[in-house]
Amino acid sequence: MQTHILGYPRIGSKRELKKACEQYWAGKIVLEELLTVGRNICSQNWNIQKEAGIDLIPCNDFSYYDQVLDMSLIVGAIPSRYHEVALKKNNSELDLYFAMARGYQKDGLDITAMEMTKWFDTNYHYIVPEFYKNQQFKLTSDKIFNEFAGAKQAGINAKPVIIGLVSYLLLGKEKEEGFDKLDLVSNILPVYIEILSKLQAQGAEWIQFDEPFLALDIADDAKEAYLKVYSELRKQFPKLKFIIATYFEGLKNNLPLAVSLPADVLHIDLARNPEQLGEVLESIPDNLGLSLGVVDGRNIWKNDYEKSLSFIKKALEKLGSERIFIAPSSSLLHSPCDLEFETNIDPEIKNWLAFAKQKVKEVVVLKELASNAESSTFLADFEENKKAISTRKTSLLIHNENVKERSAAVTEKDSQRKNTFPTRREEQQKVLQLPLFPTTTIGSFPQTTEVRNWRAKFKKGELTAEQYDALLKEETQRTIRWQEEIGIDVLVHGEFERNDMVEYFGEQLEGFAFTKNGWVQSYGSRCVKPPIIFGDVFRPDPMTVYWSQYAQSQTNQWVKGMLTGPVTILQWSFVRDDQPRSETCKQIALAIRDEVNDLEKAGIRIIQIDEPAIREGLPLRKSDWQTYLKWAVEAFRISASGVEDATQIHTHMCYSEFNDIIKNIADMDADVITIECSRSQMELLNAFADFKYPNEIGPGVYDIHSPRVPSKEEMIELLKKAQDVIPAHQLWVNPDCGLKTRHWDETEKALIAMVAAAKEASLEY
Ligand code: GLN
Ligand code: ZN
Repeated sequence: MQTHILGYPRIGSKRELKKACEQYWAGKIVLEELLTVGRNICSQNWNIQKEAGIDLIPCNDFSYYDQVLDMSLIVGAIPSRYHEVALKKNNSELDLYFAMARGYQKDGLDITAMEMTKWFDTNYHYIVPEFYKNQQFKLTSDKIFNEFAGAKQAGINAKPVIIGLVSYLLLGKEKEEGFDKLDLVSNILPVYIEILSKLQAQGAEWIQFDEPFLALDIADDAKEAYLKVYSELRKQFPKLKFIIATYFEGLKNNLPLAVSLPADVLHIDLARNPEQLGEVLESIPDNLGLSLGVVDGRNIWKNDYEKSLSFIKKALEKLGSERIFIAPSSSLLHSPCDLEFETNIDPEIKNWLAFAKQKVKEVVVLKELASNAESSTFLADFEENKKAISTRKTSLLIHNENVKERSAAVTEKDSQRKNTFPTRREEQQKVLQLPLFPTTTIGSFPQTTEVRNWRAKFKKGELTAEQYDALLKEETQRTIRWQEEIGIDVLVHGEFERNDMVEYFGEQLEGFAFTKNGWVQSYGSRCVKPPIIFGDVFRPDPMTVYWSQYAQSQTNQWVKGMLTGPVTILQWSFVRDDQPRSETCKQIALAIRDEVNDLEKAGIRIIQIDEPAIREGLPLRKSDWQTYLKWAVEAFRISASGVEDATQIHTHMCYSEFNDIIKNIADMDADVITIECSRSQMELLNAFADFKYPNEIGPGVYDIHSPRVPSKEEMIELLKKAQDVIPAHQLWVNPDCGLKTRHWDETEKALIAMVAAAKEASLEY
């Protein structure tokens, strides 16, 4: 039996890489200093794994920005617009690399960045490879060889991790017509062969090919590509040992293909899909080893040794110890680094957790316990583990009978408004009296350095609660006044009191815990610190009523209450694994419902429940979509359905394509939905038009992700496009998303123009 790790977090346990990259980009440190930070992180990571006793330690899992971009540079998939960056004589390979990741605006050049998108169903984002017809590839970077050599110097014969050829192509995007990305297999294969030859010459024995697409829905041409690629690689390298790593889903219908590939070891994700073990054991051929991904690489819970051992034993009986590998389910990139830094977390909760460093140890302990259970020196660990797991089953910190009973008592009625939309619409119009093309914003106004400083000072005790409150009130009042002045119809309070749209709610809900240092890479140097939902969720007190009520008291116009929806709170947190996600989501939905009802009681007549993450929660396999959508939509409806017909419920979504889920979006039955639309020139609206979406819609008329101020004319144009497909009386006018990342000057100009555009458009009627 052997242990291995698919990949280790590379941001550094104190986010050293983030800081060094940002300093390098700002010109505050030189290349050599950045490289030193990178090398130190690599050797720290290797040491952690070596000291823990891991048998196969990865290299090339480190990255200065993104592992897919690394691969693009290695195989020379560098779009031609960056060639000039490479030619500038002071630019290093890393400067070219960062230009691809972030764009390049200096030396008289102005080059856009490559596109970025989500890495499967994680919150990590990768840089999308760009493919062209007949594209040629060429080994272009030494990064992987340098890292292998670095590990060797540290006394480790590392296992290089490469994104498998087929997955690499499938991750990319065709940038011109007339070909399919899989047509490029033959062009890119020689480069993979060259990489492996060099690694072999350096002394590599193992290669890990990450092929997550083997666990997804793939077409026949991809299946053929898998067979072709791996038989060719095998032919060229009969002695190298290949691990093909799948994760985030089960192999399911691709199982026959996966076990037929000429690899030495197949890695499967038993955290996400434990059910596949039996099937895999049935069909695994005699010459194939099996890597059991038993330690969850994506979540922060301590492994349940007893459960993992039952899987390992089952595999042992069938395959014998020689062929078994024990590993985390996926790369540990998606876990925070080290639990030991968490000195503030309740010790009882801490005892249920494991971050990357702890997970490495779990893998080793599992191997020991599985190989010599009797004499194992780790028996004490086992006993402690059993205790930790069993306290989670009964702890009063987690389990709240009232919450469970309330959730169990939810009936269909709880997710239904009193009447259907046409009736509600009339009631709302009577109360709200809004004009045609009502204008509004998505919620947040600029979170200036000043506002963030107040919060920082308040947290450090340098501002009293009263002082902080007074400053926020001033800012809110000023924002209300300003919206009135420029003639916005439905005002917002500005969200100045919020740090983050999930954290703000998590901090006020029971069942949530927060880490001090639980950072996880989101993209490049950007890290997020997701809250931990450890227990039954409920809302002890109102969360937003104070600020909404204050804002409403400052004006005679309507102020929209602003909440984050249950699916988004779930999606952007580490979620408990001792009950279905749908159940946790329902508990959050009930807590938000309480808040919605209290806002209504406080006189707030328009309430927005943001659900930007509903689409990203979609399961990776299409056959699982409807089950997810059913509970996700129901959760939204539970949160929204406790109010009177005359209270108008809004929702907001961004970064979404709606075509394939439009029916479910309509099922959410929000009175108004605002969506991101301007970057696609209203194209996203077509899904709503084709579906004859019955409720009201605010397609964003300007892109808030850029500092650029749009003209009134541009927005009128977009509004016209919107009216081509959606009846005018259904339309709202608003920006694409919240304005918290923008500056006031651009925000002011853009919103003044937006209001003018709406006024002008309504003159036509
Ligand atoms: N109400 C939030 C805001 O305006 C919505 C943010 C989002 O959609 N991501 O900031
Ligand atoms: Zn948004």
